[in-house]
Amino acid sequence: MRIGILAVQGDYEAHARMLDRLGADYFFVRTAADVARADAMILPGGESTTMLKFLQEERLEAPLRALALRGGAFLATCAGAILLAREIRSPAQWSMGLMDIAVTRNAYGRQLASEVRHAPSQLQAEPLEMVFIRAPLIEQIGPQVEVLASDGGRPVLVRQGKMLVATFHPELTGDTVV
Ligand code: GLN
Repeated sequence: MRIGILAVQGDYEAHARMLDRLGADYFFVRTAADVARADAMILPGGESTTMLKFLQEERLEAPLRALALRGGAFLATCAGAILLAREIRSPAQWSMGLMDIAVTRNAYGRQLASEVRHAPSQLQAEPLEMVFIRAPLIEQIGPQVEVLASDGGRPVLVRQGKMLVATFHPELTGDTVV
């Protein structure tokens, strides 16, 4: 599987280090031609406003949509989740709408709301370590969206088909399960 990591801005290097640990092949994605070579994509955390602007300027939306249509897998973390969401609040803005979730940006406050928490998940028996950095909140999920982990009653890891979205940063922990 050829995994592309969107490498515009944000913590894409941390995802690369995690894939190195897992022995998975990847390449950095910056152009539409790069997206066309990918079987799967990682959309990292960072600043979603900057990333959405880049997607539009570099015309990456159409190839990303095409990848989703041909059954490509997506892992989106934090700002990446915002890129996939059907609806963004606070502020309302454009997004790709590939995943049936509504998210509110920076819903846990500003810098202070960056912390490590532990919560149960469907993925393993032990609680999952979750690093939150100015995370979005998933406020609504569609009928096809499955919740794999919640924290304080709020979904933080969700799946729709081959799209996996985490509002935290699994690439910043020692745990490779996500
Ligand atoms: N606060 C960022 C945003 O709204 C997301 C933060 C992150 O990706 N760690 O785009």
